[in-house]
Amino acid sequence: MRINGSTKLLGLIGCPLEHSLSPLIHNTFINDVRENLVYLPFEIIPENFKQGIEGLKALNVKGFNVTIPYKERIIELLDEVSEESSFIGAVNTVVNKKGRLIGYNTDCKGFSMALKENNIKLRGLNVLVIGAGGAAKAVVYQLIKENAKSIVLTNRTEKRAEDLVKSFNKITNSLIKCIKFDETELVKNILDIDVIINTTPVGMYPDSNQCIIQNNHFFKKDKVYCDIIYNPVTTKFLKQAQEVGAKTIGGLDMLIYQACYSFKLWSGILPDHKKVRKLAVKHLND
Ligand code: NAP
Repeated sequence: MRINGSTKLLGLIGCPLEHSLSPLIHNTFINDVRENLVYLPFEIIPENFKQGIEGLKALNVKGFNVTIPYKERIIELLDEVSEESSFIGAVNTVVNKKGRLIGYNTDCKGFSMALKENNIKLRGLNVLVIGAGGAAKAVVYQLIKENAKSIVLTNRTEKRAEDLVKSFNKITNSLIKCIKFDETELVKNILDIDVIINTTPVGMYPDSNQCIIQNNHFFKKDKVYCDIIYNPVTTKFLKQAQEVGAKTIGGLDMLIYQACYSFKLWSGILPDHKKVRKLAVKHLND
C-alpha cells in the first residue's frame, strides 16, 4: 500500500476500537485489489460524536464503517438510509456520495453468506434466535428475507424481544414469536428447531468460559448451532454443540462477508474473503 496525494480515506467509527479486526481486513482487501485507498480507525468519544461525523464529511472520506455504540445513533446524521437499515434500525456502513452520507447494513448479507458458505439454506427451516439487540435484528431481517419457515425469539429482557417481533410482523408472513428466556422452556422447545443462533455477546473474549445456555440437553446432534461472536473463533456455545456431534458455524465468516459487502459499496469491487480469513484466524489465535 503506497499512500500519496490521491489516496482516498476509508475508516471505522466506534468506541473503543483497539481490538477491532476491521483495519486488518480492509487494508488487506485494499492491497489485494490494488486500489488507492487506506482504512483507518477513528475512535470518537460519545461527547464528540456529531463533530466527529462532521469532521469526516469535511475531510471528504469515501466511506466508513460504524460499530458499537453508534450503529443506531448514526442514523439521524445521515442524508439517506437503505431499506434494510431502516427496517433493522441500524447502520454499519456509510458511503459518502458527493457530500451526501448514505447508510447501509451489511451485517444481514454477511450473515446470509456465512450460512451459504457452510451449506445451510434458511428457506423452510425453523430457527431460534437468542438475543434481541442490533445484531439480532439484522439476523431476523435476513431470516425473513430468505423465507425461514418459523422464527422463535428469546431474550433476557422479554419486552425487547416482543418489540422486535411486533416491528418485523409488519413485513413478514413467516411465523415469528417469542418464548421466555428460561432454560427449561428452551430445552422443551428445541425439538422443533433446526437452527439455533446466539446473537448475545455472552462467551465473547475475555469471558470465553461463559455460555448463554448451561443445560446440556439444549444441544442435540441433528441441529445447526451458530454463534455470531468471532473472538474466540470457537466459542463455548459452539464447543458444547460440537461435543454432541452437531454442525456449528462461528461469527468470523459473517464478520468477513459483511466487510466484503461494505468494501463493495465503497469501491464497486467484491474482494476475495479467503486470504483475509486465514489472516484473521492467525491474528485471533496469536
Ligand atoms: P446489543 O445490541 O447490545 O444486544 C445484545 C443482546 O444480548 C441483547 O439482546 C441483550 O439482552 C443480550 N445479552 C447481553 N448480555 C447478556 C447476558 N449476560 N445474558 C443474556 N443476554 C444478554 O449488541 P449487538 O450489537 O446485537 O451485538 C451482539 C454480539 O454480536 C456482539 O458480541 C457482537 O460482537 C456480535 N456481532 C458480530 C457480528 C459479526 O459480523 N460476526 C456482527 C455484529 C455483531 P438484553 O436485551 O436483556 O440486554
